[in-house]
Amino acid sequence: MFVGIAELARSGRILEEKARVDYRTLPTRKLLNRCATARMPFAWTINPYRGCEFACLYCYARYTHEFMELRAPEDFETKIFAKEWDEAAFRAELRRVKPGESIGLGTATDPYQPAERRFLMTRRVLEVFAGEQRRRLWITTKSDLVRRDAGLLREIGKANPVQVNLTITTLDAGLARKLEPLAPRPELRLAAVRELSADGIAVRVLANPVMPGLNDSRESLLAVARAAVEAGATAWGAAPVFLKPCARQVFLPFLEREFPDLVELYDAEIGRNGFVSWAYKARISRMAREIRREVGLPDKDVEYVPVVEEQMSLFGGATAA
Ligand code: SF4
Repeated sequence: MFVGIAELARSGRILEEKARVDYRTLPTRKLLNRCATARMPFAWTINPYRGCEFACLYCYARYTHEFMELRAPEDFETKIFAKEWDEAAFRAELRRVKPGESIGLGTATDPYQPAERRFLMTRRVLEVFAGEQRRRLWITTKSDLVRRDAGLLREIGKANPVQVNLTITTLDAGLARKLEPLAPRPELRLAAVRELSADGIAVRVLANPVMPGLNDSRESLLAVARAAVEAGATAWGAAPVFLKPCARQVFLPFLEREFPDLVELYDAEIGRNGFVSWAYKARISRMAREIRREVGLPDKDVEYVPVVEEQMSLFGGATAA
C-alpha cells in the first residue's frame, strides 16, 4: 500500500521509455517550496523534476526517490518525473512570495536535464517569470541547454535580478565523464557561461563539490576559476563534497573500482555524517578565497549544503544539483 507521494508517483503516466530511462508525470500540488535554511541564499525553491538523468556519482538527492518507494540507487537517474504544469496554480503560488525574496530554481535536480527537452517545465516557469517584477531568481545547472533560454533570461533580467550558476567541477573531461557520466562536457558548460555572459546575464561558476584527491588540487580549482573568468563569469566558488548515505552507497563502490588508492583518504576525511572535517572545509575555503583573489573575482564563499526542509515536503523537490 502506497501513500502520499509514493501513491502519486504510481498514478503518473509513463510517457516514454528509452533504453535506460523512463519519463513519467507526477501530479503536483505545488511547485514552490519554502526554504527556511538561513545558510541558503534563497527563501523559496522550485524543482520541476524529480530524479536526475545526469547521474553524478556524488549526488546526495538520490534519497528523494525513497519517498516514492523507489529505493534502488539507480532509480533516481532512470525514473524521471516531470511535475504536472498548471500555470494558473503556479501564478497563485508566486503571489505568496514577497518582492525581493530569492527563489532557487534547480536546487535538488537539474532543471536543464534531458527531460527538459521534452517537457519544457523549466521553460514554462521562466515564461511566467518574464511577466514578473522584483523576483530574485537563482538558477543552478550543469547543462548547456540553459543557452536555449538566454533570450528569456535576458527578458526576465530587465525587471528581476537573475543569476545563473553553472557547475563545473573539473576541466578534465575524462574525470568529469567518470564523476558525472551523463552531464554535458565541461567545455560545453563553459560555452554556456560564455554565451550567457555575452548576453549580459550574471553567471557564477561553481566547482562544487570539491572531492578529496579528485578535484581538490589548487591547480585543478585554479584552472576552473581562470576558465570561468575568461568566459565572462562574474563569480566563482568551491565547497567540499557532502556524502549522505544515499550518495555513499554509489560513490564509495565507484571509488574502490576507479580510484582504490583514495579509499583510505575518504575514510579519514569524511565523517559518518557525510561531511568533510572542519580542517578540510577550512582548507578549501581558504584556497577558494586565494584563487578568487588571484583571478580578480569578488571574495565571497559559496556554501554547498543540503536543503533539508524539502526532505519533509511530500510534494516538493529535494537537494543537490
Ligand atoms: S548532482 Fe545535480 S546534476 Fe548531478 S545527478 Fe544530482 S541533481 Fe543531477
